Amino acid sequence: MSDARRKAAPRAEDERAPASHADQDPIPRLVQELLQELGEDPTRDGLEQTPDRVAKALRFFTTGYRQDPKEILGEALFDVSYDEMVLVKDIEFYSLCEHHMLPFMGRAHVAYIPNGKVLGLSKIPRLVEMFARRLQVQERLTVQIADTIDKELSPRGVAVVIEAIHLCMMMRGVEQQNSFAITSSLKGVFQSDSKTRAEFMELIRHQRQRFA
Ligand SMILES: [Zn+2]
Repeated sequence: MSDARRKAAPRAEDERAPASHADQDPIPRLVQELLQELGEDPTRDGLEQTPDRVAKALRFFTTGYRQDPKEILGEALFDVSYDEMVLVKDIEFYSLCEHHMLPFMGRAHVAYIPNGKVLGLSKIPRLVEMFARRLQVQERLTVQIADTIDKELSPRGVAVVIEAIHLCMMMRGVEQQNSFAITSSLKGVFQSDSKTRAEFMELIRHQRQRFA
């Protein structure tokens, strides 16, 4: 039986070869095996295209691995003498938890106090997105965003707060269905000056009530 299968396999591949370059990507084949292992029939109508779709989706969800923060921020640093807080809040993001490869999603609030240099505002959501499109834990996502801004801008302070719900918690029924996790990374004056920190927390506060 296994001999017959081995012989049959190359023929099936030959037939599929002209259809697309998808054969070069090992993920569809792995997904097909996974479906089979789960007790499904990967050849039935509804599932026929699923391995290719899953592969495409997973590649997209992990595009962040192939992006460099320096490229994203590189040309958007401007010399400006503005020394008040810059805050971009409610940045929607979607990521995959690295423990279950299930989505976690929510909002990021990112603030910094410049030290001669500011960042193009649209770059902050792109930075969040880049780190979110990797396998993540919420804590690391939070710290990576803060560290990158700290490193590239050398601001007087950076603050990142992320609020997220985790499908691995919700679907597996291990936690309260409506609970969400909050993580924060505070650097520079956000850490040393309680007034600055309080101002930031106040500015993002009403959004948190909406979540609760
Ligand atoms: Zn998880």
